[in-house]
Amino acid sequence: MTTKYFELEMTINGKAVVTEKRLPVINPATEQIIAYVPDANQLELDKAVKSARTAFPGWAATDIDKRAQLLNTFADVLLSHKEELANLFSLEMGRPLAGALDEITRASYWIKETTKQRLDRKIIEENETYRVERYYTPLGIVGAIAPWNFPVLLSIWKVAPALLTGNTIIVKPSPYTPLTALKIGELGRKLFPAGVLNVLSGGDDLGKWMTEHSDINKISFTGSTATGKKVMQSAASNLKRITLELGGNDAAIVLPDVEPKKVVEKLFWTAFRNTAQVCIATKRMYVHEDIYDEFLTELVNYAKTIKVGDGADPSSQLGPIQNKMQFEKVKDLIENTKKSGADIVLGGEVQKGPGYFIPVTIVNNPPEDSRVVVEEAFGPILPVLKYKDYEDVIERVNNTSLGLGGSVWGRDLELAYSIAERLETGTVWVNESQILSPHYPFGGHKESGFGIENSLDGLSEYTNSKTVMINKKKMD
Ligand code: NAD
Repeated sequence: MTTKYFELEMTINGKAVVTEKRLPVINPATEQIIAYVPDANQLELDKAVKSARTAFPGWAATDIDKRAQLLNTFADVLLSHKEELANLFSLEMGRPLAGALDEITRASYWIKETTKQRLDRKIIEENETYRVERYYTPLGIVGAIAPWNFPVLLSIWKVAPALLTGNTIIVKPSPYTPLTALKIGELGRKLFPAGVLNVLSGGDDLGKWMTEHSDINKISFTGSTATGKKVMQSAASNLKRITLELGGNDAAIVLPDVEPKKVVEKLFWTAFRNTAQVCIATKRMYVHEDIYDEFLTELVNYAKTIKVGDGADPSSQLGPIQNKMQFEKVKDLIENTKKSGADIVLGGEVQKGPGYFIPVTIVNNPPEDSRVVVEEAFGPILPVLKYKDYEDVIERVNNTSLGLGGSVWGRDLELAYSIAERLETGTVWVNESQILSPHYPFGGHKESGFGIENSLDGLSEYTNSKTVMINKKKMD
């Protein structure tokens, strides 16, 4: 029997572009190769940059309402291909189908909401002599570099504001999850003018070449903090604008007035959704000593009901780790945690493959300086930690170089809010987690990021601010 592979090509200048070199794409639930996608070289990147540059003046001059209209049509096209896209997504990413469908729907919604935003022209001063106004111009070509954990949504977070504000774009998905992005590029081919939306697949080198390219004006990057630092360095070559959305080690603080049974389900999902491969997942759970034992018991009881399995099986609630590199990293962290003598109260035993499956693993009160607390696991292993004093827990939570998100859970909203205010993170939720919106600014503090995505603040990062001053008096 011959295996049928998905056949998807890159989009450059509105056309499919085939490359000689190809990269295998692996289904993480079966470890089978499901496609060979283009592995773009520097010449192909140059071609994409040239086409984006040629398209730029026309697209920038197109009325913003017309650009918004095309983006809205694009959002409808994604929705009308939702099943096909979600199937592809689930196969390459490993996420169960319901979650894959949710990401496509959200991506479409995100485009639509973003197109409602406008950075208005503003008169700053007007008097007899002068008029001073400020407005926004597009930057030129945007390079969008995405990770593998939310491969569609996080690309769309870049495509929608970049194109709305009049830039052209080159999207590079992660080499682990290129298929859905390539398909989305294909769907955009007939819709946008040639060169406006380009999608290239390739290895990490392609990302590096984009950040170094002298004719790309901005890099919008989502990925690890380590790579983000490299992006910042090479973007300096031509002073590219950069937005960096990086790693996190988010904490949830559970106050003593909480009834454990009522909150463990919600808190479980803040930590383990998408097999814990979420930048804003709860990666440390601090629970007050008064309710600690009961909370841990209830959390473990709930966790035991969760089914981990192939995303293609409708009964699976959590899929595999997306790729072998991450699988090995998480396994190593589990081994290290075991060796340290920590009390693993659930999971911890990784079965033999096929598939990069890791069971839900919960660790009871490991030392604050252990790897499982300090590192971003990006996999289903969660330390639950005991605290007594609010000052102490705030200090422990803030004692990290990362600062993406966090949450506080309690019935005393005033107390919860006073703690939330003191967390050094870009977003803090109270009795919620992971709620994002095209209209809420999102970005990291400290080494979790640089700049903002979403909202008008995020939109403005795809523009130059321009001030024009006119002396209205006649020159004679
Ligand atoms: P990664 O940094 O390894 O890769 C991200 C992207 O960068 C990929 O497309 C990769 O090919 C590309 N890349 C690799 N080397 C590059 C280089 N030198 N120059 C330019 N591009 C390069 O990250 P990942 O493993 O794909 O994603 C997981 C990480 O992303 C986690 O740390 C997670 O917390 C973070 N993340 C952050 C957010 C956020 O919004 N803050 C969202 C999702 C994921």
